[in-house]
Amino acid sequence: MPLKKTDAIVLRSIKQGETSKILTLYSRSFGKIKVIAKGARGARSRYGGTLETPNCIAIVFYEKETRDLQYLSQADLIEPFHAIKKDLVRTGLALAVCELINGVTPDHEADPLLFKLHFFALKGIEESSIPFDVFRGFQVRLFENLGFRPDFSGCLQCGNQGVVSARFSIEQGGYLCENCYHPSSQGMALSNGAITGLRRLQMTSFQNLDGLRLEDTVQAEIDGFLDVFLKYHVDGLRDLKSLKFLRNINWPQ
Ligand SMILES: [Zn+2]
Repeated sequence: MPLKKTDAIVLRSIKQGETSKILTLYSRSFGKIKVIAKGARGARSRYGGTLETPNCIAIVFYEKETRDLQYLSQADLIEPFHAIKKDLVRTGLALAVCELINGVTPDHEADPLLFKLHFFALKGIEESSIPFDVFRGFQVRLFENLGFRPDFSGCLQCGNQGVVSARFSIEQGGYLCENCYHPSSQGMALSNGAITGLRRLQMTSFQNLDGLRLEDTVQAEIDGFLDVFLKYHVDGLRDLKSLKFLRNINWPQ
């Protein structure tokens, strides 16, 4: 069995038998994989806290192509995201990012750009003063990565950017402004604030998001849009458990 090496983020970890864990990982070189970590539980485990969600780790595993579950041989910590683990809201958001990655990626399909997006979204949630907006920015970028980037650059028909209100057409992936949509036309209503906010989330890097000040009503509109848009494009995607948890304790921020 060949030994393989890669960096990976721990998406999920479940107990197996008395002492082992089965991990779902999103890896840089092999995409989503499942590995079994023998002897990973218990006080004397050689892995310590290395295999916790959402750690970024360097792994070595034995690959057998005919098998779904690979055998973990070694794991070293690259980034433990300490600040995320100390904060309930950051933890919930980081888990939501991991749940989304798990929900939208097929097994064994490498996408180094998506790995990078995943890592920097976690880094942003760890460091930003507005981690909710990092999560929103992550979703907007995820659409781009998955190939269905919504267009907020201007009205689809007249190019108008300074809209008062707009109707977003999911099928067309863009919006019509108040001058162009017919009152009876279908589409999701979006305010000027939501359109501007989504445009800025699309164009601003995670490190620079701190200047973004979205009003509560705009946050709710954007969250509604992101949810509907994602579910339209990703078949069978369920509500994120981590978000339900966050809504119960602290949402919107
Ligand atoms: Zn227009």
